[in-house]
Amino acid sequence: MIDGIKIYRGTNQIGGIVTEIRKDDHRILIDFGANLPGSKADAIADDEVVRQVFGRDTDSVKTDAVLFTHYHGDHVGLKRYIPDDIPMYIGRTAKEILKVIAASVDFVKQKTGQSDEIELPIINKMEPYWKLGKSRSFSGINVTPLVCDHSALDAYMFLIELNKKRILYTGDFRDHGIPGEATFEKMISEKVGKVDILITEGTMVSRFDEEKNNSVRTEEELGKRAGEIFSEHHENVVLVSSTNLDSIMEFYHAVPEDKVFLCDPYQARVMKIAIEARYKYFKKYRFKKQIYVLCPGEYDGYMKDLLVYRVPGTDRCPFSMARPHIYSEKGFVMLARPNRNPNFETGRFEERMLDMKDPFITYSMWQGYLKGGKAEDSAIVQFMDGRMDKEHMEQLHTSGHAYVETLKKLMDMTDPEVIIPMHTEDARAFKKVPLFKEYVNRIHLMDGTNSTREKD
Ligand SMILES: [Zn+2]
Repeated sequence: MIDGIKIYRGTNQIGGIVTEIRKDDHRILIDFGANLPGSKADAIADDEVVRQVFGRDTDSVKTDAVLFTHYHGDHVGLKRYIPDDIPMYIGRTAKEILKVIAASVDFVKQKTGQSDEIELPIINKMEPYWKLGKSRSFSGINVTPLVCDHSALDAYMFLIELNKKRILYTGDFRDHGIPGEATFEKMISEKVGKVDILITEGTMVSRFDEEKNNSVRTEEELGKRAGEIFSEHHENVVLVSSTNLDSIMEFYHAVPEDKVFLCDPYQARVMKIAIEARYKYFKKYRFKKQIYVLCPGEYDGYMKDLLVYRVPGTDRCPFSMARPHIYSEKGFVMLARPNRNPNFETGRFEERMLDMKDPFITYSMWQGYLKGGKAEDSAIVQFMDGRMDKEHMEQLHTSGHAYVETLKKLMDMTDPEVIIPMHTEDARAFKKVPLFKEYVNRIHLMDGTNSTREKD
């Protein structure tokens, strides 16, 4: 047990993250995530973790804040169980994206009579982080949020000062996305430097073999290959998470000049928030081509807010209503999602694909969701049904997480006395990664399996 640090969940699994940083009778929590679908059978259940964190046993400790690293469900999914009087913090842009997601989810919930589970009021209560790079004290626990690269936009690491020790809590991160390639090393050397304790994600340590199957490693490489695929095919469909914005912006910029870029109003709103937040910093986060928005029944009432929008400093509206005569002749790239609405047997995108002659799918999600994968996802399996052959699809995906080389780089740059792995299915594998050899005696497993005598 490291003084003041308690990881309730996440030392031996990916997702369902909850970490506590405690000083005397005060604490802050980092993330309050739900278990991912397909998580291990022996994973602590969500209701059990809520009980452990906020149950009677914790009455004597005051929770000063919950700090969210980013908007993925395995980090924010249990937010509704956080007592009302505890302040919650998240990135400013991350909050705006969560609001768009919530508006869409709440709409379905209201229609299906689940109004008591509405999300938007909870998100509205979240506060954005204070001035970036500046520390703030929560009853003597000093926290500096540092924006980092991840497949979620506006994600954070935290530099924490506690009991005269400097702790870097990475959250989910990587350095091969659009912001990471440009800023990771600079950020660590200028804002972090040497630490005493490094609490780091290790997703890719347990997904090492899968990584070898990926044809591309960086978002830039993904963009280049996407350009080739989009040029080759007339009708392109891209299956990508609606909030994986680095990939989305790479796809958007990879659309050939003569083809049309298509998405639905929800996706267009998410893109608009991302572009407004990042266009000043990264070229790929700029409006380029017109974004043609697909509306059900071609009724533009669904996109009124988009039609009145103007690119800052211009009178240009980057959004137009998509009409089949515009895109079927020219060819297109359509961002799509599988159907998760239980009221529809066939999703809206799948319905549109019925009208296409020979759509080619760029599958840009984790391969574990596919048929026979580690966390088979029925909606995705249905979407891809009959389209899994090379004629109809190509997998094009980069991980949202740091490669082992990046983890090594982080260890070198922060030179920690203690390294605590989390967000990994196999924390023990950390001690066996050849690249981490010089750090093996500093790696501390918080699930109680530190003994070197334990079995493989
Ligand atoms: Zn994440």
